[in-house]
Amino acid sequence: MGIHILWDSEAPAGIELPVIRMIAMILGEEAELVEYPLLIDGYDRDRNQHDAQKILDRLQDTLTRRYDIDGPLLFVTSRDLYTGGCDFVFGLARPRAGVAVVSTARLGNDYYGRVPDDTELIDRTAKEGAHELGHLLGLGHCSNPECVMFRPQTLDELDRKKKMLCPVCREALAPLQEG
Ligand SMILES: [Zn+2]
Ligand SMILES: [Zn+2]
Repeated sequence: MGIHILWDSEAPAGIELPVIRMIAMILGEEAELVEYPLLIDGYDRDRNQHDAQKILDRLQDTLTRRYDIDGPLLFVTSRDLYTGGCDFVFGLARPRAGVAVVSTARLGNDYYGRVPDDTELIDRTAKEGAHELGHLLGLGHCSNPECVMFRPQTLDELDRKKKMLCPVCREALAPLQEG
């Protein structure tokens, strides 16, 4: 099957390959970068954020229908995302459509007034990318705070997660990958 990753031209440049390699390692799937033009919808001027659902709508329409991509697709963007009822989200997945989005807006140290660090940005982007892709592969949320499928509410909770699935999630994923 293989995972496809689309990188927003405005998302942090130069970290694509390490992020993709780490995602492939976490999920035990092949992952590759794809390039397609994508219109980014859902900007809310008052919030200065994008509605993640609208981005997924466009991903689903433009890519899965027009380009007929086979396998899960993750879009990495620098736009800050929200969705109904949440002030912000690190990412959002739509498993039935095979599309997901992850935002780097709140993954960099600069957002929190700390010294920027590419290694941390790569780790966080890979963990949250792998999390959303995990949903596309059929996994739900996990209560283990060190597991990639744990849903973090804060940067500290995200950083507490390891770059791996816990044994329970790994076991749950194996039969899904064989199918
Ligand atoms: Zn989740
Ligand atoms: Zn888990």
